[in-house]
Amino acid sequence: MNSNGTDILIIGAGISGLLCATELQRQGYSVCLLDKGRGVGGRMTTRRMQGARLDHGAQFFTARDSRFQAYIDEWMDAGIVREWFRHLPGESEGPGHPRYCGVGGMNAVPKFLARNLDVHCTERVNCLVRNIDHWVAQTESGDSFRADQLIVTTPLPQSLLLLETAGLDWANGDLKRLREIRYEKGLAALVILDGPSNLPEPGGMKLSDSHLSWIADNRMKGISPDVTALTLHATGAFAEEHWNSPDSVRGPRMIGAAELWLGSRVVDYTCHRWGFTLPRNPWPRRYFHKECLNLVLAGDAFGGPRVEGAALSGIETASAIGQLV
Ligand SMILES: Cc1cc2nc3c(=O)[nH]c(=O)nc-3n(C[C@H](O)[C@H](O)[C@H](O)COP(=O)(O)OP(=O)(O)OC[C@H]3O[C@@H](n4cnc5c(N)ncnc54)[C@H](O)[C@@H]3O)c2cc1C
Repeated sequence: MNSNGTDILIIGAGISGLLCATELQRQGYSVCLLDKGRGVGGRMTTRRMQGARLDHGAQFFTARDSRFQAYIDEWMDAGIVREWFRHLPGESEGPGHPRYCGVGGMNAVPKFLARNLDVHCTERVNCLVRNIDHWVAQTESGDSFRADQLIVTTPLPQSLLLLETAGLDWANGDLKRLREIRYEKGLAALVILDGPSNLPEPGGMKLSDSHLSWIADNRMKGISPDVTALTLHATGAFAEEHWNSPDSVRGPRMIGAAELWLGSRVVDYTCHRWGFTLPRNPWPRRYFHKECLNLVLAGDAFGGPRVEGAALSGIETASAIGQLV
């Protein structure tokens, strides 16, 4: 057993798990987070490639809720986050609303949150055991983590598979509806150019193409000062169609669809598959709580997709657990 046990174990150190842990720790709980990735952040990820830095998952986030806005204000004061833009090309004029990004990349936010938390990366949980009054999570590396309360924040289809290993009837009549929540697949092409692109300010653009839904210039965004590097996101339909195509097929097609905006020669590219982008039909509440088992499911499948939805799911899960005491 790797740990003598904590009050709360959170599986998944994406934005929902990290904010949930932050709030619970503020309430005085001992919290441990496990993530299968080499670093924290999940879909808020930034990658280095040939001297460039690219955001290849979430591109920016919004804040409509004052609780999330309070975190953003704190991150802006700390120099972690900045406003990227209020309007994209083609959007109507007017005051617009701020779209934020991490300074140096989207991963800056999860990294900042993790600095005061007990996070164990490269720990893929592959089995859950429910004992009389506690949970044990077993990981691929052979470690075990014990806690009174379990919070699972992985994309919902992964959470459901993981919970099957516990062999419990934990969701009763709700399992069917939880299984109906579907995520769209995604495909990103990361493209290095030998000079400036043709993208207009602010360096990001929604597309209504059959192949691409989004294009961003990470240099214009301010996260890749030395090298021009584009992030191209495929439409859900293109990602489905080319899920198993080699990069040598899907890469050139995505780059071809962005030709108008390239402006310079392509030096290199790679593609990345996203099994889960956004939930199409999220659960109507911010979390799923099974009090008698000390179990909560949270994340962007609950109460609203995107970074802000996931963040609010984490925040509201923590406040629900706090109210139990
Ligand atoms: C291509 C793409 C573009 C996007 N664009 C935007 C955007 O512009 N704006 C926006 O607001 N949102 C965007 N989103 C959505 C946004 O990124 C997510 O809604 C949000 O980051 C989800 O956070 P989360 O904490 O719920 O889940 P995640 O970030 O997925 O975190 C879950 C974590 O669980 C870990 N995990 C999974 N299984 C296990 C296991 N068995 N054991 C241990 N750990 C495990 C994963 O490694 C991951 O770190 C985008 C997503 C994608 C993929």
